Amino acid sequence: MAIREILTVPNPLLKQVSEPVAGVDDELRALMDDMLETMYDAPGIGLAAIQIGAPKRVIVMDLAREGEEKQPRYFVNPEIVWRSEETSGYEEGCLSVPEYYDEVQRPSKVKIRYLNYRGEAIEEDAEGLYAVCIQHEMDHLDGVLFIDHLSRLKREQAVKKVKKLKAA
Ligand code: ZN
Repeated sequence: MAIREILTVPNPLLKQVSEPVAGVDDELRALMDDMLETMYDAPGIGLAAIQIGAPKRVIVMDLAREGEEKQPRYFVNPEIVWRSEETSGYEEGCLSVPEYYDEVQRPSKVKIRYLNYRGEAIEEDAEGLYAVCIQHEMDHLDGVLFIDHLSRLKREQAVKKVKKLKAA
């Protein structure tokens, strides 16, 4: 396993639409292992492959709280098959937009379909932080960042802040 560099805004790769993967093999598992290690090191609760420069529809996540046992989750070719009409707001952050947080409204509940680490097809309901995180990460697969849900002014402020942070 290896810790990879996390791309930050305004890196144009983050706007790229990621490609579905053909299947879960050892090479893909090695990528997911690297992604998980990179996410834990950051630290963060979710990471999409494009954030380390790999344009594949792959996500890792761990929503365990500090002190709890780790609960790594892996999502290959995830799809949202149902969204609730009800929405909730959550103050989001992103490893690609470090040190910037703002509230985003998203459907409160979703039903998702994906392949797991072993390549098994899973269908699952998500709500609460899980629903927020999976929707945030799935946006990355389509080249969308959480700041794209904000006003243009806020988005520009966020990018400016990150540029300054990176230059320091
Ligand atoms: Zn993110």
